[in-house]
Amino acid sequence: MNTVYIGLGANLNAPEAQLRNAMDALSASSSFTLASVSSFYASKPMGPQDQPDYVNAVAKLMTDLPAIEVLDLLQQIELQHGRVRKAERWGPRTLDLDILLYNDEQIDTQRLIVPHYGLCEREFVVFPLLEIAPELTLPNGLLLADIATSLPRNGLTAIAQYRMTKSIA
Ligand code: ATP
Ligand code: MG
Ligand code: MG
Repeated sequence: MNTVYIGLGANLNAPEAQLRNAMDALSASSSFTLASVSSFYASKPMGPQDQPDYVNAVAKLMTDLPAIEVLDLLQQIELQHGRVRKAERWGPRTLDLDILLYNDEQIDTQRLIVPHYGLCEREFVVFPLLEIAPELTLPNGLLLADIATSLPRNGLTAIAQYRMTKSIA
């Protein structure tokens, strides 16, 4: 069994509902067990500022799938939830699902880089991840809690909770 942390983000078409639907889809998938979910957070956009604020969360999944197949399934869920890939980087989107960590592995392929390259710099990833994994050490040996100490919150605010319907013992 593999432990995967994923980051979720949305800023279009009722973003909070987008995240709830994505969590429901992950939870319903026979390929994943949804082990824990952070609060939902309101956050400021990266890149272009002329777009709505984001809602972000982090989830812990257990899976037998290799990392690349996790990416395939996450991209399938993005598309099922109306994501249209556009040329503009970091532009508005209905749903973004990124793999943050896959066990302690470091993966560097054309389609997949793990840990996610933005993990340590993004407050909307670090603080939700810290909420569900306060003791986490990253594959580079750094404590997540230490990274959080020097990272500005940039207005990040918890706004809602996701109620898990299926849990593991
Ligand atoms: P960012 O990667 O800066 O958060 P983004 O999430 O908006 O930006 P996407 O358009 O969702 O970027 O993804 C672009 C490509 O990134 C994907 O097609 C995928 O192959 C690649 N990718 C590389 N590493 C990862 C990862 N850890 N999680 C998800 N996608 C990844
Ligand atoms: Mg992303
Ligand atoms: Mg992405």
